[in-house]
Amino acid sequence: MNNDKTLHSEINKVITLLKAKKSIIAFTGAGISTESGIPDFRGPQGVWKKYRPIELSEVLQDPESRALYWQRKIDMYPQMKNAVPNKGHLALFELYKKNFLQYVITQNIDGLHQRAGMPDDRVIELHGSNTYIACLDCRKRYEWEDILPLFEKQSTSPKCDECGGWLKPATISFGQAILEYETNEAERIASAADAIIVIGSSLQVYPAAGIPVTTKMNGGSVVIINMEPTGQDEIADCLLHGPAGDILQAIAEGVDERAILKKKREF
Ligand code: NAD
Ligand code: ZN
Repeated sequence: MNNDKTLHSEINKVITLLKAKKSIIAFTGAGISTESGIPDFRGPQGVWKKYRPIELSEVLQDPESRALYWQRKIDMYPQMKNAVPNKGHLALFELYKKNFLQYVITQNIDGLHQRAGMPDDRVIELHGSNTYIACLDCRKRYEWEDILPLFEKQSTSPKCDECGGWLKPATISFGQAILEYETNEAERIASAADAIIVIGSSLQVYPAAGIPVTTKMNGGSVVIINMEPTGQDEIADCLLHGPAGDILQAIAEGVDERAILKKKREF
């Protein structure tokens, strides 16, 4: 972690940098939501310290893995349902309202950016969403409240009433194809941005970890805010090792609302 003095001067550097930029985006990972009580995967209290990942092929082919997958999701459901946006999510929304942020690209599946106020069409969810359930075959959407009672009535995992496909929370599991539209949008937006603020991501998993690199290679600046060193610290113009909530709040408070700039770089 940076000491307070270094952090303070780095926050001021970020504020100065953002004031000079027009098209600013954020790229968030699990670390922005730990302060809302949702554990990350690879941090010191991460989920992978407790569980092994389950691949999509196991969910599809092995009834025991499928049951285990659903059991974990059901166990974690109350935590997800009751989680509220924290200072970090709210500060990003503040930056959006002040015209210092155009898009949030997120690896998170918790829907907390939208619950903090970000409009749906300003949030790109690269790994889908845990806030609803979808059929793996026809993508029909189901709500948690309608699916949960089925587990009390039947012991097997639920199937789609439309096409008979397996239902699963609408997240991208290991071994599942990436979301093409979201991935292309993220790539396009990251190329056009003249600054990217990366928050709470270990930047170890590709293609997600390549997003700040895309901005950098297209001439944009990179700000990284993370508790621990990340896989991309060497490309950062500003590097802040500390808690995301406090840091983002200080940044959002450091800028005044500005008019939308006419010559804004187009997304
Ligand atoms: P990660 O677990 O690999 O890394 C999270 C990083 O955030 C760690 O380096 C950790 O040090 C840092 N961190 C934790 N708390 C922080 C805080 N308060 N302030 C600043 N930094 C903090 O997460 P990732 O890079 O997002 O990649 C893992 C995958 O996990 C993603 O694909 C994502 O879909 C999934 N995931 C999502 C959630 C969620 O939706 N909230 C939760 C767990 C995992
Ligand atoms: Zn279906």
